[in-house]
Amino acid sequence: MKRVIFSFRLIPIYGLVFLLTILVTLVGNEAIQTSAETTLRKGNHTIVIDAGHGGEDGGAVSCTGVPESAINLEIALRLNDLMKFLGFQTKMIRTEDISVYTEGESIAQKKISDLKERVKVCNETDGAVLLSIHQNTFSDSRYSGAQVFYPTTAGSEDFAKALQAALIRTINPGSKRTAKKAQGIYLLEQIQCPGILVECGFLSSHTEEALLRSVHYQKKLCCIIAAVTGSFILDAQTND
Ligand SMILES: [Zn+2]
Repeated sequence: MKRVIFSFRLIPIYGLVFLLTILVTLVGNEAIQTSAETTLRKGNHTIVIDAGHGGEDGGAVSCTGVPESAINLEIALRLNDLMKFLGFQTKMIRTEDISVYTEGESIAQKKISDLKERVKVCNETDGAVLLSIHQNTFSDSRYSGAQVFYPTTAGSEDFAKALQAALIRTINPGSKRTAKKAQGIYLLEQIQCPGILVECGFLSSHTEEALLRSVHYQKKLCCIIAAVTGSFILDAQTND
């Protein structure tokens, strides 16, 4: 009798176990150590992934001239793939270089409409958890490091603090940045669901800008965000 120890049908399971092992090593988050089976459980949450800016609104411009909107989109697309691979439901606010406005003539009016549309997607999605991806910039190129912002909705502060801590443990060792309550960030002030906005790093720092544009660093960022988000959702499902 032939014992089958390998089958191509098992590849996704091997892949998932491998990825979870990496996530645990990378982030050290105990909740992620729940089995792959638990992670695959279909929940009643949908992760809304928001690539900040887009279209006419490029956001900040990096020190080499790359618009923030393009880097946000690359990271958001990778994050979407990863979250889906882990078995979570996702919804992307944009998947290409566009603004999502529905009305308005001037750039300012279109920008307001664009933000309202992003809020609408969050508020009309059952069990939404928002992940908004942005990049920072500053007049002084010495500043670097990721920073997480959170709304006042239930669970968001703990989620943001866990993500900030994971980012410091992994890609920003020694960073003194702390998770901050959002002030003047329309999207976070208007949503009714939990979520975070992460400024992944500074496009004004030559070193960090090069990292933020690299595939390897983007994948690292996504692993960290995915691990903490997965943990947050699993905790929420356990407490439901
Ligand atoms: Zn931005």
